[in-house]
Amino acid sequence: MNIFGVNITDHSELAAPYRKFAGQLSEWYGGGELPELAGQDLRFILQLQRQKLQSMGLEMQCSMKKSGAKKAEIGSVSFSDRVFINSIIGGNVDMTRSIYSSQDQRRKDTEVISFEAVIQELKADSSPSADMALCCPHCGAPSTLGELQAGCKYCGTKFLMSELYPRVMNFFISNDTDNSQKSSKNRRDMAVCMAIAIIPMVIFFIISGNKGMTENIFSGIIAGGIVGFSLFILKKLFGVFGMMGRDARGAGKTVSSLHYMNKIKKYDPEFSTEYFRDKVMSLFRMAVYSKDASQLACCKCSCPEKAADIIEADLHNLSVNSCKIKDRTCDTDITLYLDCLHYSKGKFRRKTDKYRMCVRKRIKRPTELGFSFAAVRCPSCGASFDARNVKTCPYCGSEYLHEENDWIITDIR
Ligand SMILES: [Zn+2]
Ligand SMILES: [Zn+2]
Repeated sequence: MNIFGVNITDHSELAAPYRKFAGQLSEWYGGGELPELAGQDLRFILQLQRQKLQSMGLEMQCSMKKSGAKKAEIGSVSFSDRVFINSIIGGNVDMTRSIYSSQDQRRKDTEVISFEAVIQELKADSSPSADMALCCPHCGAPSTLGELQAGCKYCGTKFLMSELYPRVMNFFISNDTDNSQKSSKNRRDMAVCMAIAIIPMVIFFIISGNKGMTENIFSGIIAGGIVGFSLFILKKLFGVFGMMGRDARGAGKTVSSLHYMNKIKKYDPEFSTEYFRDKVMSLFRMAVYSKDASQLACCKCSCPEKAADIIEADLHNLSVNSCKIKDRTCDTDITLYLDCLHYSKGKFRRKTDKYRMCVRKRIKRPTELGFSFAAVRCPSCGASFDARNVKTCPYCGSEYLHEENDWIITDIR
């Protein structure tokens, strides 16, 4: 089904990886191994976060259990490129989060959160090329698809395609979703949408209608109902993207944001809002969790002082303030509306934060959903290497420009 250019498809086969990933993430936060299902950039983010927590003398444990109230919502939004399809799977999970500081065994609470995972699969009819850069899921070494199928050069593990995909590219947590509140909120939203559409329609039909009064009112109610329901569906859809959340942080810029996103889409037809949301959130988390953001190859600036005590960042909304494209270099200025967990002077605080971030990419090639900094292909010599912390190819020494292949941060404030 396609509504307003957004694919709503059945992803019941992704319920299993979704639940498995929630379990693996719980194990990771319990001090265990990196989630096997996580894609390379997500693993990097989790590692950076753990390092940051450790440097602050903290330990965060999150255990996620299936919420008794509701199963994962399987019908969900997806976006794709030539090779991959990414699906956003959401559901409600009971999360118990405990954060311990080495000094005083501080504990946080249990909450029902909504947990959303972006799961990447191969498209049914696609076969990616053997030289596609990819990390070994076992040892993490940069490699290529062909090498991994033949046996990893470093650890020797052989992989079948079915073991490499699906992968979880990103996840989002929000703790403002309660089931009982959600359904009453839906009813309330629908009533509001209906009312704002029906009232003017009735007035319009009374003034301009050429039938009897009762018939005019009746026509107005029917027409208003249709418009109102469409409004409600639109609101629900954009709610999925985080474009209009429970409170309206950033919602006023939805239209201009979509305008700028379309501008990029003219150069790159495979670019999508959902992909961009994933990407900027990954970049923000990498920058904020790392000790020195400017050391990261994907970041050309340092992190602002006010972000130094963030131990977890979740996206509430995103708006695009401007987008300049010159010689195919796209500079986009965005505002991130975030829900962050801060730790400073021995205290935890949950805060709603706002950050301006500028990101850049050369949009000469279509979006590659499978791209990861951790395994890139050198355009000069063809070797694959880990580009997270280096700016030149370790094999031939030629400069590697990240913005040629993916978005980078040029400013955060
Ligand atoms: Zn390996
Ligand atoms: Zn090279």
